[in-house]
Amino acid sequence: MAQRVMGSDGGNKKTSRIRVAVRLRPYVSKQDEKGEGPCVRGLDSQNLEIINWRNATETVKYHFDVFHGEKTTQQEVFLPSVKPILPHILNGQNASVFAYGPTGAGKTHTMLGSAEQPGVIPRAVREVFKLVKSKDEDEGWDYSIGMSYLEIYNEKVRDLLSPNSHDLPIREDKAKNILIPGLTHTIISSFSDFDKHFVPATLNRTTASTKLNQRSSRSHAILLLKVVRTRRALPHRQQTGKLYLVDLAGSEDNRRTGNQGIRLKESGAINLSLFTLSKVVDALNSGASVRVPYRDSKLTRLLQDSLGGSAHSVMITNIAPEYKYYFDTFSALNFAAKSKLIVNKPFTRETVALPVLPVKRARDEREAGPSGA
Ligand code: ADP
Ligand code: MG
Repeated sequence: MAQRVMGSDGGNKKTSRIRVAVRLRPYVSKQDEKGEGPCVRGLDSQNLEIINWRNATETVKYHFDVFHGEKTTQQEVFLPSVKPILPHILNGQNASVFAYGPTGAGKTHTMLGSAEQPGVIPRAVREVFKLVKSKDEDEGWDYSIGMSYLEIYNEKVRDLLSPNSHDLPIREDKAKNILIPGLTHTIISSFSDFDKHFVPATLNRTTASTKLNQRSSRSHAILLLKVVRTRRALPHRQQTGKLYLVDLAGSEDNRRTGNQGIRLKESGAINLSLFTLSKVVDALNSGASVRVPYRDSKLTRLLQDSLGGSAHSVMITNIAPEYKYYFDTFSALNFAAKSKLIVNKPFTRETVALPVLPVKRARDEREAGPSGA
């Protein structure tokens, strides 16, 4: 019960931790014009290593709750990382799943996927309907499922189910629930009903922008699934559980690409939400009783009741293996990692099979000789 969770047995800390998974997308040679090969590779189900830019004879090894290698299927991401948290939203608890990482690293693939390889969103929605259907009538609850879909762009909240909406406010009620007055909330009765509302809204998101890639990589797309259950007997007690499924803006550092003017302002705002998110995750995962700065950005303010605390939260950090993503990969890993360790390459050679070792590097090393570099 609530008292036990809040007790001094450490239970509270345990439940408020955010689980961190890292997913490495497959290597794409088109993304590697210099033909350098990948600079990141998986080691096992919790560890990966990346070439150390300060010293190419070393790699940096990172440790996470879960590491999903490049061959991981959508189902293999969904089963351990997302499915287990879904039953909680039928019991009036909150949850959030968000995809983090640089543009091009696989966030949308992970969250949305394609018709052939559906991602977290369609799988989670199907599963929630399945869980509700399987509930025993005798338990005495009636369930209703609803959805909202919104975007945070430039620290403004836009309702994607109501195309002409303007910036919406974020509020907190007396029970500390976060809500957005005026946001469209649509009751849905099946997966196909969900799709009927979701697909046009997704198009609305992209056609609303002239430079769709820039906008979609700079905005946070947030799907909210709300499960309300009502006691059939008087006094019709109600419980609400919320699930946020978030495709975050790209985490790349836009200052490095020389963006100017409006784009610089945009990236400033994105950095505010992502920067605040990183501070919130750090504060929650440090286990220390520090202030969690939820109020410092729209994104974290909105997620406040569904991130940390008694909520169930998973962050899937997407990374790409090519060198052009190198520094953005490093910064994403530093955000996600539980720990890191610098290791010498000789150790690497002994313990890891060679197929993904960069060809050019291997040759350079041979030419430099054993005492080179
Ligand atoms: P992001 O949303 O982070 O910008 P995308 O999801 O659009 O990245 O991915 C970039 C490209 O890589 C897309 O063409 C996508 O289909 C492909 N891709 C990403 N992750 C995977 C994966 N795990 N397996 C196969 N293709 C992937
Ligand atoms: Mg995307």
